[in-house]
Amino acid sequence: MDKTRKTEGAGLSYEQALAFANSAGEKVVPTFCSMCGPNDGCGLYAFTKNGKLCRVMGMAEGQKNRGGLCPKAFASSQWLYSPERLTTPLLRVGERGEGKFKPVSWDEAIGIISDKLLEQKQKYGPESLAMLSPARRNYKGIMLRFLAVHGSPNHGHSGICHQQRSFAFNYTLGCWPQPDYKNCELIFYWGRQPILAGPATMLSHDLIELKNRGAKIVAIKPSMEADAGMADIWVPLRPGTDAALALSMLHVVIGEGLFDKEFVRDWCYGFEELGNHVKQYSPAWGERITGVPAQQIIDAARLYSKTKAAAIDLGNGVEHTPSSNDAIRAIAILIAITGHLDRPGCNLIPGPPEYTQPNSEKHLDLFTPDMVDKLVGPEFPPAFQPFLEGLSAAYYRILESVLTENPNPIRAIIAPGTQPLVSNRGTKNVIEALKKVDFFVTVDVTRPAEMAFADVVIPATTPYESDHPFELQGNWLMARNKVVEPAGDFKSTHEFFFELGAAMGYGKEFWNGSIEAYENFRLEPFGITINELRQHPVGIRLDKNPDSERTFEKYAKAFDNKSPRFSSAPYLPQGKAALYNTSFEKEGFTPMPVWREPPESLTVTPELAGRYPLILSDYHTSKFFIASWQRNIPLLREMQPHPTIHIHPGTAAERGICDGDWVKVESPHGWLKVKAEIYPGIRPDTVMVQHGWWQGCEELGLPDLPLADGGANANHMYSVDPEKVYDPLVTAMCSQTLVEVSKYE
Ligand code: SF4
Repeated sequence: MDKTRKTEGAGLSYEQALAFANSAGEKVVPTFCSMCGPNDGCGLYAFTKNGKLCRVMGMAEGQKNRGGLCPKAFASSQWLYSPERLTTPLLRVGERGEGKFKPVSWDEAIGIISDKLLEQKQKYGPESLAMLSPARRNYKGIMLRFLAVHGSPNHGHSGICHQQRSFAFNYTLGCWPQPDYKNCELIFYWGRQPILAGPATMLSHDLIELKNRGAKIVAIKPSMEADAGMADIWVPLRPGTDAALALSMLHVVIGEGLFDKEFVRDWCYGFEELGNHVKQYSPAWGERITGVPAQQIIDAARLYSKTKAAAIDLGNGVEHTPSSNDAIRAIAILIAITGHLDRPGCNLIPGPPEYTQPNSEKHLDLFTPDMVDKLVGPEFPPAFQPFLEGLSAAYYRILESVLTENPNPIRAIIAPGTQPLVSNRGTKNVIEALKKVDFFVTVDVTRPAEMAFADVVIPATTPYESDHPFELQGNWLMARNKVVEPAGDFKSTHEFFFELGAAMGYGKEFWNGSIEAYENFRLEPFGITINELRQHPVGIRLDKNPDSERTFEKYAKAFDNKSPRFSSAPYLPQGKAALYNTSFEKEGFTPMPVWREPPESLTVTPELAGRYPLILSDYHTSKFFIASWQRNIPLLREMQPHPTIHIHPGTAAERGICDGDWVKVESPHGWLKVKAEIYPGIRPDTVMVQHGWWQGCEELGLPDLPLADGGANANHMYSVDPEKVYDPLVTAMCSQTLVEVSKYE
């Protein structure tokens, strides 16, 4: 029997979908799912009967999902027809937080928001408007364009996702080198959930293919999920201690001479200083901080440095600590000095795009140097602005600025598809900020957590109710197609920004309100219009750019890459990998990576550990829900009705806790009520909850949970002390604290 796992795609081809629709008396529309927001959406066939969505099936032609869909997609019709759908714009009539609204028309709502923003622009300047970033939704580019055209730099990026990795890699290696799954013999999944995060099946396929061909998998994370279950080695570090682990591994690699001498000589700057610097980070020191046995740290460093084709896939987990930038650059340095950069099976320097790319809609060219001073709580220090998404502030710092009124308070906040009360740290402060800000607009598909605090609530279409934007995945270009008409007075978030822009006098910058013209502008490089693209039901395949053939060891080019700063200065002033970073040093930051303790931990606050002996952190994705959405969908909620905490059997037994017991989780900042899930695959000193729980499910009779104490929203459990919680360079925010868990009486 062939025991290898198969990774061929599932789903239907277009012909099969048409045949099925005919036999069932249904209509079929090829389109995309996008129920999880991040990434580009899985291709699927949507079937309708009597004008209503009745089922979805995976699209075998889908580039990323290869016909696979996750449970969320199969719950699409329950999302679309949820009793919690917002079906008309609402205007606040009661006090903030009371949740009293009256319905208004779409046009009235646009007029109210436009008048307010224009009035504030006149009084306080355009920078008084902030937008809170959605999680990589497909309208993010249009949102950034709106801010740029309005003249505000205050895009509140999460501060815990993607840009932090990108920043540290770029300022260390001049690029963000990606793991070469196809050729590696060893992969380190570090702070990543390749199976549960991202589009259905994409990374799962990679992992299975790796396993089938005998490559070794090392999972570095505090708890074991499906990916770590397939690993050969699990390195169970304490949450948030990635920098300490990487520094200890550097100590071993340099101390034992396991580095690539030629590469270090030719392409690294500051090796000698680094060698002296990491002497302090011995494996014994690393064990004390990370909880990983010293011998396992030594073994991991040796295994990585001695395996020729070894790659590291670094996930979002490392972006949730005050030492985030140093963790990521220490790992980048590890890749460099061991010679695992841009060689087959290692981390590869991105080459020119393999396929033509669309025109960008962002209009980042409108940002000017004088706007840097108008950032409220810059995400990156002013000297490193703008970065890849233009100028950016940090999400929580924007909300904090409303409370502190320092330096210039934000007067209006628009939050499209983001749910600040359950997405960001410091829930109690966020509530106060939303009560205090002059004007607050929320935009979402179903009732969002912050709705009671909004002045205007804008309903938005699901992807099934709109025909834009098109998607490009690798060589696959396909139009999005509308499946059903919106069941109320609402439009897409794209249309919201287009119409708001027109009402404020920015119509020209928004293609005079024409979504078709906007799609055609983006499609120009492909020489096709959106109407022509629609003639291809499952899209078209692009030819490979002739100059994109993979080459290796492109160091001279990558180390000369220009940064997006106004000066266009290169990322690496010496044209070499920055083991010693003079750009950071010049701005007063540490030139070499260091360990910075979280505000509360077993090692930094032993006095707290007496009362709160366990470490708490949280997961951001699961099989059933994405971030803080979708708990209102019965199909998904039946699979996981209650918020849970992963707790080690020994830790639970010491407290008399059994599987399924309701437990109280107390930190110095608040408490949660969740169900115990006895989980052998977690460190005994660590417990993990899932991010984003707040919403009830009407159909199953499950009520909303409190947003702070007594609920299951992990965000209010952490410190928000501005002196301790931020990474000083990239504003990554801490999601670790100390807790005690007891049976809920
Ligand atoms: S991963 Fe799931 S929710 Fe996300 S786009 Fe794919 S099928 Fe939809």
